Amino acid sequence: MKITDLLKSGVPSLSFEVFPPKTEMTFESVRGAVEEIARLRPAFMSVTYGAGGGTSQYTLDIAKSIKEQYGVPSLAHLTCVSSTKTTVKEKIAAIKAAGIENVMALRGDIPKSMENDDRGGWDYRHAVDLVREMREANPNFCIGGACYPEVHPESPDQNEDIKRLREKVDAGCDFLTTQMFFDNNLLYNFLYKIREAGITVPVIPGIMPITNAAQIERAITLSGSFMPRRFVSLVDRFGHSPAAMMQAGIAYATDQIIDLYANGITNVHVYSMNNPGVAERIMTSLSDIIGK
Ligand code: FAD
Repeated sequence: MKITDLLKSGVPSLSFEVFPPKTEMTFESVRGAVEEIARLRPAFMSVTYGAGGGTSQYTLDIAKSIKEQYGVPSLAHLTCVSSTKTTVKEKIAAIKAAGIENVMALRGDIPKSMENDDRGGWDYRHAVDLVREMREANPNFCIGGACYPEVHPESPDQNEDIKRLREKVDAGCDFLTTQMFFDNNLLYNFLYKIREAGITVPVIPGIMPITNAAQIERAITLSGSFMPRRFVSLVDRFGHSPAAMMQAGIAYATDQIIDLYANGITNVHVYSMNNPGVAERIMTSLSDIIGK
């Protein structure tokens, strides 16, 4: 099922992001965790793509098994990083052959080891190039793109970022998923601005439950997210106790999700970090709202 069709119902729903194994050795444990999340029957699941490209086959393997074994619609990510015209053609053909309708076109996180490369071997610079290629290859794909309520870290300012986002959507994006954020007002402001800029596709907010103190630093480094005072206080008070931090982090994320639904958002995407326990606790605390 296409994600855009899922969103048409207007009924509050939850979806989860998972990441594929980084090595063959961890394949089984990752698959186990992913299966446990799929058994919760979320609206859909997305599977990220390792930007180094080395373990990219796992993205498709996992996305395929989510769909075939659990009947949960899946969304396969693909990045420009490390991709050539030939590899992208092959990937698109494999995604089509696997019957996966939903694809996410991304520039990709540039691995540290590649930061100083001239990237001359890459055929795609920005996600927009990949969106164009995917749209041309299959008019029926439901294509997603990433967006940044707090501005992409490499962008000079929000106007420029939104201008680039508009180009990406015009190239063929059917929906957008946001980077994590911890203050919903940032999302509401962003939505107002992109609608003013003529971007009309559905936007799926991405929420990251912070369940341990170590995650916080990583989240800030990766996304540059603003941490509201309320959230900082919670970490100060409970960060030293793993069980308490887990409970407080889940409650904070759940509260954010309820507020998003209350303000008219249909689907919220949760960055599960492959943790079925966290996914289940969030789903359970929203069971009457999402009808699960
Ligand atoms: P782009 O849309 O290419 O934008 C990147 C920057 O370039 C922005 O500053 C933008 O304003 C600017 N820009 C865009 N087009 C142009 C242009 N034509 N000319 C000049 N500047 C331009 N990373 C992974 O490696 N694998 C994943 O699976 C993955 N999944 C993600 C899922 C979501 C929902 C999100 C939010 C991020 C994900 N990422 C993933 C991280 C993402 O790859 C990084 O945030 C990356 O830095 C930007 O990717 P993008 O697709 O937004 O890039």
